[in-house]
Amino acid sequence: MIIVLKPDSTPEQLEALIARVKELGLRYHLSQGEQRTIVGIIGEEDKLQIQPLAAMPGVEQVLPILKPFKLASRQMHPSDTVVTVKAGGTGPTVRLGGGYVAMIAGPCAVEGEEILAEIARAVKASGASILRGGAFKPRTSPYSFQGMGEPGLKILRDVGHSLGMPVVTEVMDPRQVPLVERYADMFQIGARNMQNFDLLREVGQCRKPVLLKRGMAASVKDLLLSAEYVLSEGNEQVILCERGVRTFEDSTRNMLDMSAVPNAQGQSHLPIIVDPSHATGRPDLIPAMARASIAAGADGVHVEVHSAPEKAMSDGAQALRPPQFDALMQSLKAIAAVVGKTFN
Ligand code: PEP
Ligand code: MN
Repeated sequence: MIIVLKPDSTPEQLEALIARVKELGLRYHLSQGEQRTIVGIIGEEDKLQIQPLAAMPGVEQVLPILKPFKLASRQMHPSDTVVTVKAGGTGPTVRLGGGYVAMIAGPCAVEGEEILAEIARAVKASGASILRGGAFKPRTSPYSFQGMGEPGLKILRDVGHSLGMPVVTEVMDPRQVPLVERYADMFQIGARNMQNFDLLREVGQCRKPVLLKRGMAASVKDLLLSAEYVLSEGNEQVILCERGVRTFEDSTRNMLDMSAVPNAQGQSHLPIIVDPSHATGRPDLIPAMARASIAAGADGVHVEVHSAPEKAMSDGAQALRPPQFDALMQSLKAIAAVVGKTFN
């Protein structure tokens, strides 16, 4: 349920309203926009039906939230959320959402300092603003390379920060959250963990942004409900990521659901980016799908890049080489300008 206050409501009226909400044993979330203050009510809303708040001074309207997710809904927060990511908390600010688009690029896995530095320098020179690299890898086979662990996190941070780039890396288990938080500027929750609710709550307790990837068999509603877990713990910095879902099509790794971009944006204020690398698994398709993402209104793109894909320890077959990535970036900047977005 959301309570919309009148434009001329006073701070005292808001205080009285909040006191009443607390008295009823409900939680609330304040959204103070330029025009309007909206109070979202979280908890057993039945209580409100017997205790209507519509009659309180300063209240214009009490509306039910029709979506199963509340904090993530656009009804609760009509303007776009702009997520900000900084290298080490102090470096240059990268913005996603509200007209800002960003490129997140790097290898699938951190494999060593030298190779990562080579890739990072290349993607930065082409215009990527956030460096990615997995140190804990969710591999389908237990015998595949599982990632470098903490030494990989350290390499990622050192390389990214030496170039002024914030870094994002996957966290797979709630027990890893404090460790990953020490090194990463943004958590990545992978497709396989989109509904690991304990993990979502744990990153929700942190104050670093969360890149939440759509599960391979998850609906857009499921994705938004997973975002709700993070938001409900107090972390408001969530970026959604469309990375394709499993279907009968077997010529691509997954099937990219481009409509998820405007679909999520219509229902939610959270930024959404697209990962055409994991969606298609094919370097010949990635550039076209990246361009389509920006044209569709995505708030960013996430692409895997490797300077020697044939030697990569994971996902080499889908990695773009730096020259391919550079050409892609130039076309994305042109498309962003056409759709009125600013590249970081
Ligand atoms: C990744 O980003 O390397 C990854 C494993 O992605 P996803 O969780 O989307 O499969
Ligand atoms: Mn990968």
